[in-house]
Amino acid sequence: MTDLLARAEQNPASLTRADLVRLLSVADGAPFAALEAAARRVREAHTGKAVYLRGLIEMGNRCTKDCRYCGLRRSNRALHRYTIPEADCLRMARWARDHSYGSIVLQSGELESEENTARIERILRALRAEDGEQLGITLSLGEQTPEVYRRWREAGADRYLLRIETSDPRLYAALHPADHSFTRRLDCLRALRALGYQVGTGVMIGLPGQTREQLADDLLFFRREGVDMIGMGPWLPHRAAPLGQGTELTPTFCARQLGLGLRMIAAARLLLPTCNIAAATALQALQDDGRERGLRAGANVVMPNITDRLYRADYQLYENKPCIGEDPLKCRGCLEARIRLAGCTVAWHTPGTPKHYQEAQ
Ligand code: SAH
Ligand code: SF4
Repeated sequence: MTDLLARAEQNPASLTRADLVRLLSVADGAPFAALEAAARRVREAHTGKAVYLRGLIEMGNRCTKDCRYCGLRRSNRALHRYTIPEADCLRMARWARDHSYGSIVLQSGELESEENTARIERILRALRAEDGEQLGITLSLGEQTPEVYRRWREAGADRYLLRIETSDPRLYAALHPADHSFTRRLDCLRALRALGYQVGTGVMIGLPGQTREQLADDLLFFRREGVDMIGMGPWLPHRAAPLGQGTELTPTFCARQLGLGLRMIAAARLLLPTCNIAAATALQALQDDGRERGLRAGANVVMPNITDRLYRADYQLYENKPCIGEDPLKCRGCLEARIRLAGCTVAWHTPGTPKHYQEAQ
């Protein structure tokens, strides 16, 4: 293991699928500590100790998709559906800017309609009219046509997050109904890249039946597609979603999902030293300090939820979502302390463009 870690640090391009499977399989205790330490050294060499914050605004939970893992799926008729009015979205975005956040993420269920496209366009134009190019604006609004992505880019969006969910088309097919398409999702990622977005993707980790080999392939997929940002997190069950029905958040389940999630972060950092890698909120659903553990494993981005509290209970992709009742101001203070405890510092006021993207320009 020591030899493998030394080689990974010196020559990430040499990492093979078998190497990645070994990294994902390291035992708890000293071997895992050595993996994390190597990932932290790589992060510090390439992106320093700074952690970038993205204020997450969960703009709406209406969704036309029916992903088998997600609490927002259209078949979940019990869910109260909401769309945050434009003026309120703008107010939350201004709050982020006024509280020193360098960037925001606008996320929602997937809606492909002219009404939705135009609404997002108006929000983007209003934000850019106030801020110029200062605020990093990320969209996470699912699959759209290249034309819609182009309109949003022209209106001022500079980043897009679209998880591939799994890079294995067969597993993808098992996670989604027949009218969802792996090929389309991949085409979307490529269209975003061609339009000059900073592109982020990711996968769910620890899905029922998923192997370490598939996860190693996910990491190689990120490299092959040349993405700039990686946002991946453990899969968690939801009672209104068919996938993994009956799975309970037992201590054993949580420890396994967290351990695998942290190994994926560390392996991703070794393989892709210059990418921004998020410590997903799902880590915190498994363990109170899960996001800080993600930073210790090599992540450099955190996405605090800045959505009005009123809406949060209705945006549960998975169960046990943390901070549902938290006030964004309190989240901010508690987060800064937590980030310091993880040995990092918060990079306020900066959009935190990934080094991977800057080098490609
Ligand atoms: N609708 C958009 C954005 C919101 S969903 C989209 O799907 O791209 C954002 C992410 O939440 C998804 O990409 C998925 O990876 C994650 N997610 C959904 N359900 C989840 C679950 N049960 N456990 C963990 N992550 C989940
Ligand atoms: Fe909709 Fe995204 Fe959930 Fe799929 S993962 S059901 S697209 S919100």
